[in-house]
Amino acid sequence: MLSVTVETVFKWTDRLTRQASSNALTQEMLVVCQELTLIADIYAYEIYKREKIKLAEDHYSHQWVGQRLPIDFSQENREDEYSDILEKIIETELLQAIQFDSHNFYILNIKVPIGPRRAILIKGLLQDEVIANLKSILAIYTNLMVLHDQKERDLLTSLPNRQSFDSCLMEVCEYFQTDNYIENKQSWIAMLDIDHFKRVNDDFGHLYGDEVLLHFSQIIEKSFRYNDFYFRFGGEEFVVIVNLVDIKSAKAIFERFRSKVENFNFPTVGRVTVSIGVTEIEHHTLPMNLLDHADQALYHGKDTGRNKVVFFQDMDVKDDIESDDIELF
Ligand code: GH3
Ligand code: MG
Ligand code: MG
Repeated sequence: MLSVTVETVFKWTDRLTRQASSNALTQEMLVVCQELTLIADIYAYEIYKREKIKLAEDHYSHQWVGQRLPIDFSQENREDEYSDILEKIIETELLQAIQFDSHNFYILNIKVPIGPRRAILIKGLLQDEVIANLKSILAIYTNLMVLHDQKERDLLTSLPNRQSFDSCLMEVCEYFQTDNYIENKQSWIAMLDIDHFKRVNDDFGHLYGDEVLLHFSQIIEKSFRYNDFYFRFGGEEFVVIVNLVDIKSAKAIFERFRSKVENFNFPTVGRVTVSIGVTEIEHHTLPMNLLDHADQALYHGKDTGRNKVVFFQDMDVKDDIESDDIELF
């Protein structure tokens, strides 16, 4: 029988409250759960959108999609792998035992006001005392997650904000600096800026401008895959990181998104277009230069008519900033 001392509880609380980001908090929570349950098979999920899947003519089904944490950049095409378990998670209470694939699982649900639905999955059997302790730790974790979401997410769209982008880009760049990355599967960073957005505000008012931003962010959530990342960078600018696809697919993905926006009927406002500048996340380019490259591609698109996708790699003239030229202060 595992007995938890007061000292241990304070240590766990200290470790959870010390984490600087929601991702770091979740990773620490997984370690705490492993120490508490003595079970190694524990995963965290973020479940953040429901996709409409066409099964047959006029017959659709909804599928939950999610991300398993910590993110493993070297994995791809696992879209279907989690859908059954996600379906189960969505139906469960705060902390519930379930049977899945003839195994016993416990699901810990984390429901927060902004941000995605989250859950922790523990594979095994637990004693009542352990379950009671898990419930208490889960309450602390949930409260902390609410605070992190307030800091890391944009209030209007609920998308991760610029601060979350900085740490995410670092993680992606670190992956490409290892030797484990998959050949011919690059990641791409795109800067998206709504065209003539000032006119939307001027013609319809700020409130309708906000509504366009909300619809725009929902199109983003529906368009990219579960292992891509997206952020509201500021104002009417968004950043998307598309992971592990070749250049041909990257071009198709961003072109499909541009066209989706162009053809979307925004309530009251009608037609809105977007310009997109994209660059490859090359392992030898500094993160801040990557953003500058995406920005140059975006402004090339703005200068040549808007409603376009421009890849930095396809541009003839590039203003290359040497790292020596950058003044940080
Ligand atoms: P361009 O095609 O060159 O990008 O033109 P633009 O009008 O979109 O660009 P500009 O930078 O001139 O204007 C951006 C506008 O976005 C100005 C600002 O008032 C508006 N904006 C920024 N944040 C928000 C917001 O949260 N809500 C609303 N409604 N408007 C916003
Ligand atoms: Mg802008
Ligand atoms: Mg704009």
